[in-house]
Amino acid sequence: MKKVSFVFVLLTVLLFVMSSVVAVNAGTLEDVKAKGVLTAGVKDAVVPFGYVDEKTKELVGFDVDICREIANKLGVKLELKPVTSATRIPKLAQGTVDLAAATMTHKLSRDEVIDFTITYFMDGQKLLVEKDGGVKSYHDLAGKRVGTAKGSTSEKNIKNVQPDCTVISYEGYPQAFLALKQGKVAAVTTDSSILVGLQASDDNPGKWEITGDFFANEPYGIGVRENDSDFRDFVNRSLIEMWEDGTYLKLYNKWFGPDTKYYIPLTWEMETFPK
Ligand code: GLU
Repeated sequence: MKKVSFVFVLLTVLLFVMSSVVAVNAGTLEDVKAKGVLTAGVKDAVVPFGYVDEKTKELVGFDVDICREIANKLGVKLELKPVTSATRIPKLAQGTVDLAAATMTHKLSRDEVIDFTITYFMDGQKLLVEKDGGVKSYHDLAGKRVGTAKGSTSEKNIKNVQPDCTVISYEGYPQAFLALKQGKVAAVTTDSSILVGLQASDDNPGKWEITGDFFANEPYGIGVRENDSDFRDFVNRSLIEMWEDGTYLKLYNKWFGPDTKYYIPLTWEMETFPK
C-alpha cells in the first residue's frame, strides 16, 4: 500500500513538473487558444485608435477593431487592457497582455525588448499648434516648451530636430493638449493621425492647426513577445488576409475614411508576402 502511494506521489510530481515545462514552452498562440481569450493592450485615450466611447463607455477604435479581427481569426474572445506609451512594452514583456496594438512605432531599439509584426499603419510626426499663433514648424520652437507623451518616439524625435526646445512629457496626449490650451506649451507633437484625433474631438477644432512637414517616419507594428514566432506569424498572416480581402480597407474607412472626422487618405500599401 505504502509503495503504491509513493508511486502515486511520484507520478503526480512528475506530471506537475512536465505540465509546467509545457506551460513555459508553449507559445502565445497555444496559450491564447487554450485560454479562449486574446488579451490585447490598446490605448484608452487616443482618438481614433483606442478610446472610451462617451455613450457606450466601451473601448473602441481602429486598433481595437484590428485586435477584434485577430481574435475572431483565432476563434477566441477579445479582452482589452489599457496601456500607455510608457507601459505597453513592459506589460507585453511581463505577459500582462498577449499583444499590443497601441499606436506603436516599430523601432529597431524597441526590437531589443519585444518583436513586431509587419507594418499595419503608416504615419509621421508633426506639430499641433494654435492657429496663427506664430509656430509654423519645429524651427519656431527654439527656447519653447513642447508637450508630448512619456515613453513615445515623439519625445526623442522633436529633440533631434530642435535641440533648443524643452520637451514636457505627459502621461498621455490629452494631457499634452490641455497644456497647449492652458498656454503651458507652444505645441503638441506626435504622429499626425493622433494630432488629427485631438483636433477633431475638440469643441473648437478651428482654433488649432496641424503644421509643418513630417520630421520622422512612424510605421506602426503590433507588438508581440520576443521569440514567439508562431504567434507573430499568425498575426502577420491575419494582417495580410485583412489587407487582401478588403477588411483592412473597411476598418480604415470606418475610422479614417472621407466620411469621418479623422479623414486621412490611405497613401501606403501593406507589405504582403506571396503565398
Ligand atoms: N508612434 C509613436 C510611438 O510609438 C508615438 C505615438 C505613441 O506614443 O503611441 O511612440
